[in-house]
Amino acid sequence: MFGIIKNRRRARLMQTPLPPQWRAIIDANAPLCTRLPAPLRTELEGRVQVFLNEKEFEGCAGQAITDDVRVTVAALACLLLLNRENDFYPRMGSILVYPNAFRVKHRHVDEHGFETEVEEENLGEAWERGSVILSWEDALIDAREPDDGFNVAIHEFAHQLDMEDGYPNGTPLLADKEKYQRWQEVMTREYEALKRLADTLDDYPPDYWDNEFRPRHVHADVLDVYGAEDPAEFFAVATEAFFEDALRLKAHHRELYAALSDYYCLDPAAWVPA
Ligand SMILES: [Zn+2]
Repeated sequence: MFGIIKNRRRARLMQTPLPPQWRAIIDANAPLCTRLPAPLRTELEGRVQVFLNEKEFEGCAGQAITDDVRVTVAALACLLLLNRENDFYPRMGSILVYPNAFRVKHRHVDEHGFETEVEEENLGEAWERGSVILSWEDALIDAREPDDGFNVAIHEFAHQLDMEDGYPNGTPLLADKEKYQRWQEVMTREYEALKRLADTLDDYPPDYWDNEFRPRHVHADVLDVYGAEDPAEFFAVATEAFFEDALRLKAHHRELYAALSDYYCLDPAAWVPA
């Protein structure tokens, strides 16, 4: 019964036009969305309505939750949901927004069982238990530059898709066994190649991973080598490149582009202005 009510509500919201001022926010802050073919743009706006109706936003460290924040984040989140059946990040209930890079405490237990709390500076996080955390400053800078391959909001929402099946392992929910097999083949090959690249990079400081505040990006390929950390980061990083560096990803990582295009049911390379 609840499912029927929810679906009806969503169908109604999908048909509710966005206020012009919200449309203007998307155009100004998320220029990637201005490239969408008309039917996808219409779908995006409907999904933004559903997303804003269902998800909570919480401002942290004094961050105000304005329409600017809500609509921009919703548009980027919904970009990853277009053109395919999905349940609007069912495990994620809230988005926590900080004004800028935030410090988070992680509990770390070493091999001797000693527990320490490590504080890290961070731009975005996706928690399995249902929240995305973003630095608004960084989310906005990334969103306003649609062609540099970096987008922290897209990155964090990709983690949410990855965790939809309960496992943050770089494999989101796929339709059937064949697709899982193909995904494993392509992703493993591409991930291993990125790891090899990461190992050989001269400008990749040896203490990179230990550095409390890592240099933001070490860019040696279409893919940010941060994706070499583990398969989950690989999927998030590859998704950023898929949306924000589509032509180069397609040219240099044809199979990876095809796998992502098959999963997202989108072809962002076709949207890039000539
Ligand atoms: Zn990540």
